[in-house]
Amino acid sequence: MCPSSPEQGASLRAAFIHCPQLDQYPYPAMFPFDTRRAGKVRQTVCSMGLLSGPRRREVAPTPAVREELLAFHTERYVDVLRDSSAGSHRPEALAMGLGTADCPIFNGMYEYSALACGASLKGAELILSGQADAAFNPSGGLHHAFPERASGFCYLNDVVLACMRLAGGGMRVLYLDIDAHHGDGVQAAFYDRKDVCTISLHESGETLFPGTGFEDETGSGDGRGYSVNVPLPVGTDDAAYLKAFRQVALPLIGAYDPDVFVMELGMDGLAGDPLTHLCLTHNAPMEVIQAVQRFRRPILAVGGGGYNIPNTVRAWVLAWSMLCGQMGQRQDASMAPGGVEPAIADRCGELRDRTPVPQEPVRRRVDAAVDATIEKVRSNVFRFHGL
Ligand SMILES: [Zn+2]
Repeated sequence: MCPSSPEQGASLRAAFIHCPQLDQYPYPAMFPFDTRRAGKVRQTVCSMGLLSGPRRREVAPTPAVREELLAFHTERYVDVLRDSSAGSHRPEALAMGLGTADCPIFNGMYEYSALACGASLKGAELILSGQADAAFNPSGGLHHAFPERASGFCYLNDVVLACMRLAGGGMRVLYLDIDAHHGDGVQAAFYDRKDVCTISLHESGETLFPGTGFEDETGSGDGRGYSVNVPLPVGTDDAAYLKAFRQVALPLIGAYDPDVFVMELGMDGLAGDPLTHLCLTHNAPMEVIQAVQRFRRPILAVGGGGYNIPNTVRAWVLAWSMLCGQMGQRQDASMAPGGVEPAIADRCGELRDRTPVPQEPVRRRVDAAVDATIEKVRSNVFRFHGL
């Protein structure tokens, strides 16, 4: 059995934020965004013994209340979203992105989204209060939502709300988005601010939704140089991805010297995802998490995309095992493809992928494109950070 709530006042190293209600609001059938992923992660990490222990624990969220949502979203939008979710027809809905192919109207969409937002806000609060130095909300990462527009399966932007809460608490926030899609809603929220620096590595907008996130989107006003985009070509593999991460993100993070990280851990960049065209193994995102952990700052991690469900669940199990300190070292090992096996903590290495060898022409094309991107980003933003 796994405990369902923390001891009051207990000091947590890591908080896994989840409650059964998050599994009770499915998107419409056949829709690629599967809200049950978080419950599957929870079930697996529980079976591995990674939800219990004196310094790691599951924490139940409460839904974000209307006033909390209004920190980013407009009143008009929150009302229309809530009414549409309850079955009332609102003529303004479609203009707000509701009832589209990407953001269908379904019963419970408001409740689910508000609870996902509450979970990320809970993580932010645990970090702000010093009760946790790592928190993971696998139901979060809804990075495409705008103040008055649903987009890309996202209705309410939990990530923006959490970053705002942390920044409002006086923390300097580094937002790192490794979802295959550009984190456009989060970038837009902080485009003219430097207290939240956003870095997004993603498949290029030339080939993937939302069609933004190019090297020349660098922020405006006070925020110039604090919006950073690393668009990547179709077929990008671990080596090219990690080269971009090390040569762009790591120096910027070092120079920015954040108080806290917010990481969007969308796993739709993994090879085999049905919606995207990157070619990563689990090793790349885990290397990124490990590199971020070396900065020894609190980390609020959230989920995001990931439409190959077994691969996504396995990645988030690995991510949690790293965040709660059960897998700090790179371990090369293999697991039969196709899903998560119940495992014990010291078998985390077996969840890792083998590194595939890309075809030479593909590797040359990808390497040339990634090198060009690295050069452009460094030239566009490094000077704002004294680099
Ligand atoms: Zn995505």
